[in-house]
Amino acid sequence: MVSNDFRLLKEIKFHLDEILLLKRQIKEEESRITVIQKQIDGKEVQLEDLLAQQKEIHSVIASKEKELFALEKKLETSQSHSNMAHNQKEAEALEHEQSTLGKAVEELQENLLNLMDEEETASTDISKVNTFLEGSRQSLKEISEEVESKRNEYQNQIDDHDKEWKEHARALGDANKTIFKNGYNKFKESTPFAELNGQSCKRCGYGLDSTLHRAVLAQTALEICPGCNRIFLI
Ligand SMILES: [Zn+2]
Repeated sequence: MVSNDFRLLKEIKFHLDEILLLKRQIKEEESRITVIQKQIDGKEVQLEDLLAQQKEIHSVIASKEKELFALEKKLETSQSHSNMAHNQKEAEALEHEQSTLGKAVEELQENLLNLMDEEETASTDISKVNTFLEGSRQSLKEISEEVESKRNEYQNQIDDHDKEWKEHARALGDANKTIFKNGYNKFKESTPFAELNGQSCKRCGYGLDSTLHRAVLAQTALEICPGCNRIFLI
């Protein structure tokens, strides 16, 4: 009777191991989405910064242009007054004013040219990021579809294995069924079974004394690992 239970438990173990493997594969598939989503999130932050930068440059350009317009007007007015000087002193004052204004205009013009360069750089960067984002979103869509189809495929296999092990579990003798159920409930995300590694538990490393070791090898009754509480199955 017990040896039949051992046979059943080995079947159950096979299916549970397969389920664990499939669950891990689903997680791996899903991590492909996480990776690309993280890239997109990072680029979106970068895009926001660039857009804010561009907006700032635009507003500085607008105010500098206004300033330039006013200065040019002033220079024009000053120049139109050139022949109105009544004496040498007034003429020199006007000349000085025009030279100062002229320098300020030049400086502003240069300033504006630099700002326009910066604007162009920002615009180029923005379109690069937008192109990247467009590509990434397309990839995300394709990968998500792939992942979804893989997930369904793996889930169907999990469902099949689930049916299988449950059927085997129903056939266990009552006492062993209880031991198995307790282990299963306790180690849902892992495995209720432990193999041997020499004379130690492969799961937790617990060293078996020779009595327990012999009992496990005999496979006549279920033995529980004193270290991790799993069922020994060799
Ligand atoms: Zn153990």
